[in-house]
Amino acid sequence: MTHDIINKETSSRLCEKMITFLPSDSTHNIAEIIDGKMGQGLLDLPRSEEDNRQNNRLFRFNLLRCLRMNIWETTEQLKCPFCKQDFDTKGDHLYQCSHLSKQIKTKMHNKWRDTWHKEMETLIPYIQLTDSKLGKETTGLVRSIRRSNIKPFDTHFNLPIVSKEGHFRCRLSKIGFDMITCNSDTCPSPSRGGSSAKSNNIVASLLSAEKSKFQRGRGSNTSRTDSSSQITVTGEQIIGDLFDDNMQLLPFAISPLGLFGPTINHFLYGTPPPSDYKTLHNIDKSKFPNASKMAHQAFTRTPSNILDRADYIWKSKQRNYHYGGSYKSPDPSTYYTQIFGRTVCKANGSAGLAAIQTLYESKHGPITASSLNDDQISYLLYSSRGRSTSQRSSSQSTQESSQPLTETFLAQNISDT
Ligand SMILES: [Zn+2]
Repeated sequence: MTHDIINKETSSRLCEKMITFLPSDSTHNIAEIIDGKMGQGLLDLPRSEEDNRQNNRLFRFNLLRCLRMNIWETTEQLKCPFCKQDFDTKGDHLYQCSHLSKQIKTKMHNKWRDTWHKEMETLIPYIQLTDSKLGKETTGLVRSIRRSNIKPFDTHFNLPIVSKEGHFRCRLSKIGFDMITCNSDTCPSPSRGGSSAKSNNIVASLLSAEKSKFQRGRGSNTSRTDSSSQITVTGEQIIGDLFDDNMQLLPFAISPLGLFGPTINHFLYGTPPPSDYKTLHNIDKSKFPNASKMAHQAFTRTPSNILDRADYIWKSKQRNYHYGGSYKSPDPSTYYTQIFGRTVCKANGSAGLAAIQTLYESKHGPITASSLNDDQISYLLYSSRGRSTSQRSSSQSTQESSQPLTETFLAQNISDT
């Protein structure tokens, strides 16, 4: 308990202090920057397990992203060669670009879906929230169009009809998750006010991603037809069907640096929503009554703080081994948080690297008036060649670096992680 209070106080003071010296491209997403998952994924997991290792390129990319260091060393405003929008030097645009994200987001989504499904298979029965097999992209769940191929959840579990575990009392029949990645919103598009519109922040971006899942799209015209019965239903009707059958949709929103959305954080960690949950997602009740009910119910009738419950069950019995099989993860909540951290590094990190690859293979990187010092990029693109290039640059470079740390970092010969 004391530990939690100190943690909370430290993080709020850190936030206040950090915001005074962060550059302007990083204040709107401070919550994402100080979220510890990515750092855990980089450093905390035991390297003896092969799954926990990252190759040099991936490790370097993630480290630059995690420490908010420049990937592109320039003071000029860069432009994206694909969408022609402003391009930031920290790599946020790689995840925001309408062109690049088409190529990287599905893979990133699927890695998250598979990880969460796999981990739930142990976690959910452990806390006795289910006594049956978990479902993945299951069809036939929507009552009015049962024979259509609509998969309302990426992954879901059934709650037991009669619960043996008295801790979570709820009348839900299923809880399903839909993964979605959001943008850091570092360079908002002109339609939303461009770079001067920094009123947006990372939590708003996560909430808007969650909203699009509750509403099944941003507008009300996302209808689907059941080919066998020829019945057409809208996204709002699908949510209504799920709601009436006591199924709960929980959007699992993830930011590029690994911050989770309020809804999944409430379920996993019991984190209270940032403001009044009734208006949290700003869903228009008159147009989307079912989406509004579903979003409200995520904070009222759905079990929450499940990792704390797992810790409690784990600690109630004496054991001579650790939950994750390593002294680095003594209890379930530490173990799962590390797994999430590893997934941020592997799923989001690989997506960013793939985007850089595309950027340099089909174009010549971001557009700028003068040429860039691209040692960093050559390392990220071709690790083996990059190492010698980086070392040469650190001894020969005459250019004054705005970030001395980068030079030191480039000179280091990073061993296999
Ligand atoms: Zn772009």
